[in-house]
Amino acid sequence: MKTAVVTGGAGFLGSHLTDRLLKEGFAVIGVDNFITGNPANVEHLKDNKNYSFIEQDVTKYIDIPGDINFVFHFASPASPIDYLELPIQTLKVGSLGTHNAPGLAKAKGAGFLIASTSECYGDPLVHPQTEEYWGNVNPIGPRGVYDEAKRFAEAMTMAYHRYHKVDTKIVRIFNTYGPRMRLKDGRVVPAFVGQALRNEPITIFGEGTQTRSFCYCSDLIDGIYKLSQSDFHEPVNIGNPVELTIKEFAERIIRITGSSSKLTYLPLPTDDPKQRRPDITRAWQRLGWKPVIDLEKGLTETIAWFKPRV
Ligand code: NAD
Ligand code: UDP
Repeated sequence: MKTAVVTGGAGFLGSHLTDRLLKEGFAVIGVDNFITGNPANVEHLKDNKNYSFIEQDVTKYIDIPGDINFVFHFASPASPIDYLELPIQTLKVGSLGTHNAPGLAKAKGAGFLIASTSECYGDPLVHPQTEEYWGNVNPIGPRGVYDEAKRFAEAMTMAYHRYHKVDTKIVRIFNTYGPRMRLKDGRVVPAFVGQALRNEPITIFGEGTQTRSFCYCSDLIDGIYKLSQSDFHEPVNIGNPVELTIKEFAERIIRITGSSSKLTYLPLPTDDPKQRRPDITRAWQRLGWKPVIDLEKGLTETIAWFKPRV
């Protein structure tokens, strides 16, 4: 049996990835310090003999005895509210954590995959975003703590590949949503769904003309799993290319929930990207991957999960 380590394993995506790896026949060791994660995300695994958990901050040296075949490095605050509240921890996990995690992979002769982000493209001047685009990031703006940490993490990953010959992969994740997101993590999906289910005003930042493209979590995890099994080392965008404005997105959520919420407009956060849509040609050509869950179905599942928790 192969063993995988998932850092950030008690988070939204780390816990879904863990479920998939267990289904694929891996033993999984989750590592998390719960800074933005939740023990409830992995509660259903407590009696699974192939699952174990280590509570640890991955910016500290990671010591795990025994064989490890793959390290998935997902630890990092991920929502704008979280990384604005945790700027130093975000920079540390992207830098020190992304020294320790590939270091663990190197010591064990394991594969390594880093969860990078569309934020590497910043407020993009190329649309849709291809992996060749180098981005438009403000290093000293409030989002710089996340964007630059992830850009550093990609550079570190490529250094471990080029100089230490570690079998590394880089996924650039575009806005992903689904069950197990924290209701109050500030990201647009839990924010709007929570507001709609409570019939409260929906808080549109700016005029709502900025665009995003939303991927359902099972599609994303499928792309990541396929990437982990590939021999491709350059970054790969994984996301859903269906793009809509934030105002259209709010209206969609109001319709699906049957809410009486009205839209309210608040200031646009500094450096909020104006447009975002992944070009997923590379994922299709290299991995044979494209998303299969449309927004209507994904949102319906997500809303059903949030409903009893609001
Ligand atoms: P999340 O906040 O639910 O999960 C992150 C997990 O990392 C949490 O459980 C947190 O406690 C843990 N963590 C943070 N710092 C740590 C540290 N120093 N040591 C140990 N554990 C630590 O967020 P998520 O949406 O699941 O994001 C997971 C990864 O995917 C992140 O690296 C994020 O940057 C990346 N990503 C997510 C999205 C998305 O749309 N969800 C988009 C782009 C990139
Ligand atoms: N947004 C919004 N209202 C909210 C939360 C977010 O209008 O209550 C907007 C935000 O300004 C951004 C988009 O929704 O343009 C997506 O925000 P999110 O925090 O989910 O992630 P981002 O894509 O900015 O990293």
